[in-house]
Amino acid sequence: MAKFDDTRSYYRATAHAAPSHPQLEGEIKADVAVLGAGYTGLSAALELAEAGLSVVIVEAETVGFGASGRNGGQICTAYNKSMATIRNRFGEETARAAWDIADAAPKLVGERIKKYGIDCDLKWGYMHAGEKASHVEDLKETQAEWDQYGYTGSKLLEGADLRDKIGSERYKAALWEPGGGHVHPLNYCLGLAQAALKAGVKIYEHSRAIRLDTDDNPAIHTEKGVVRADYMVLAGNAYLRETQPYLFRRLMPVGSYIIATEPLGENRAKGLISGDEAVTNCSFIVDYFRLSGDKRMLFGGRATYSGLEPNDLGGFVRPRMLHVFPQLEDVKIEHVWGGYIGITVDRMPHVGRIGSRTYFSQGYSGHGLALSNMCGKILAQAIRGQAEQFDVMSRFKHPIFPGGKFRTPLLTLGMFWYRIKDALA
Ligand SMILES: Cc1cc2nc3c(=O)[nH]c(=O)nc-3n(C[C@H](O)[C@H](O)[C@H](O)COP(=O)(O)OP(=O)(O)OC[C@H]3O[C@@H](n4cnc5c(N)ncnc54)[C@H](O)[C@@H]3O)c2cc1C
Repeated sequence: MAKFDDTRSYYRATAHAAPSHPQLEGEIKADVAVLGAGYTGLSAALELAEAGLSVVIVEAETVGFGASGRNGGQICTAYNKSMATIRNRFGEETARAAWDIADAAPKLVGERIKKYGIDCDLKWGYMHAGEKASHVEDLKETQAEWDQYGYTGSKLLEGADLRDKIGSERYKAALWEPGGGHVHPLNYCLGLAQAALKAGVKIYEHSRAIRLDTDDNPAIHTEKGVVRADYMVLAGNAYLRETQPYLFRRLMPVGSYIIATEPLGENRAKGLISGDEAVTNCSFIVDYFRLSGDKRMLFGGRATYSGLEPNDLGGFVRPRMLHVFPQLEDVKIEHVWGGYIGITVDRMPHVGRIGSRTYFSQGYSGHGLALSNMCGKILAQAIRGQAEQFDVMSRFKHPIFPGGKFRTPLLTLGMFWYRIKDALA
């Protein structure tokens, strides 16, 4: 499985200065031990420390090394699954409670950026763009569904209105919404870590957990040390892998890749996305794109399911960008990088508890920027004895990925089939 070097990442190149943290050595004790310094772990740690608990985070690499420091920066609304699917499977009461959680997630990101003064290029506004007649119908359904749950203010854009918003001939319609948006994800993550530190959280970097005690005496063991605690939070998501087999069997790490162009200048950038929103398409294989704070095109997509990184990442993603914006043919690609998204079989987040003292959250299935912040908070609330929202999220039971050690080739085959279906639809 490729580690995905992120040294050519635009986010690394433009990250704010941040403190480095020591390696864990010897035995320490805390109220809560957290594995992973991405959004889920930091969010849980921040909430717990602000409530007066002692919290230690153990991170295998550095803060934001995982998906939280590499993602598309898109603050998404709702879940990867439609509300109708959630309602049909789990009933109206659960669907409504799940909606309230998802609805609070982008707001939580906005509130934290404001409260902790995190400088991360926050912009509000999001568009879901459809290339086909069937996508336009899907967008209308989504809009009606959102209205039903009280999320009003979205607009279906077509014709000249759409052309004004996105400088591409690709799309037949787009659903514009005010509640989604975008950020510089690594700078947001570093800001969250800074807030956690201020609240008293201790962070250990370059401290990979090699063994976890998930019984009544939780502990995270690394090569050189151990953290013993009353409670443990597992927030390693797609990067945790076999360290916790129960979680790993229910999660598939999927490679996703992003390119950043050279800066385009204010006018040229405005000609691509005039309102500076985040954009995603409606196809099975997702494209996601937006402008950076310094007006580059950041274009992501082209998933891989094999665990191998493509040789030429730029050459892998650039054709997708030119498919949408052929006018960028002459533009230089200055940054390329990739990372692992954790997906679940049914694409809902996997939130729960192992034994009575180990809490976890993973598998946001590409919608994790906002949801991981919210789920981290929900884990913290559950540890403090307020489990209402934890109970809602843990109602979504997660089957294991079929195929055992052959699951990756099986998934690759399955995705290939969906890609063909998508092209023919
Ligand atoms: C390329 C890409 C694009 C994406 N785009 C978007 C997007 O635009 N919008 C959106 O909503 N979501 C997006 N996502 C998903 C989103 O980034 C994730 O859902 C979210 O960041 C998950 O946060 P996390 O804290 O749960 O996991 P992570 O950020 O992956 O953090 C897990 C941490 O745990 C650490 N860890 C793992 N194992 C161990 C161990 N054994 N010991 C110690 N530490 C360990 C890792 O090093 C890592 O730092 C994208 C993801 C990728 C990869």
